[in-house]
Amino acid sequence: MWNNEITRVDGDGKVNRLALRNTVTGEESSLDVTGLFVAIGHDPRTALFADQLELTAEGTVAVDARSSKTSLPGVFAAGDVLDPHYRQAITAAGSGCTAALDVEHYLASRLPTTPQLAETSYERTHYV
Ligand SMILES: Cc1cc2nc3c(=O)[nH]c(=O)nc-3n(C[C@H](O)[C@H](O)[C@H](O)COP(=O)(O)OP(=O)(O)OC[C@H]3O[C@@H](n4cnc5c(N)ncnc54)[C@H](O)[C@@H]3O)c2cc1C
Repeated sequence: MWNNEITRVDGDGKVNRLALRNTVTGEESSLDVTGLFVAIGHDPRTALFADQLELTAEGTVAVDARSSKTSLPGVFAAGDVLDPHYRQAITAAGSGCTAALDVEHYLASRLPTTPQLAETSYERTHYV
């Protein structure tokens, strides 16, 4: 359906009708429906970080190569907020795992070095 905007959503407890207005002719009409999906676009919600973290030209949080490391040491990003391409649940979940491993490595690297801690190496975590 082209050249129409929704002016009202009707329903009693659930959606069952849309009131429409033709943006060309101004004609009003209605359409019976059983559901409504609102397209919210793909702009990443990163304004919150604009003054703290480097962002890409696409507005996502800039990270170091394939890691989750942002421009601020100790701050890691995961999910759609750093991904201008795939933006899927499974890629976001994998990205969350990457960030968790980066956080673990970051914290371990800041602890006093002991032989026991050296055993818990980043590389071992990655390649087991
Ligand atoms: C309509 C739709 C359909 C989709 N269908 C599929 C599909 O079929 N398969 C698929 O794989 N993917 C699908 N996706 C994409 C998938 O939902 C996302 O890729 C995934 O949810 C990204 O996960 P995320 O954790 O990065 O972000 P989100 O799931 O968006 O989580 C971000 C969280 O941060 C919270 N938040 C935002 N701002 C603040 C703030 N200032 N303070 C605190 N919390 C804040 C939000 O409330 C939200 O809970 C769909 C997305 C949409 C919108």
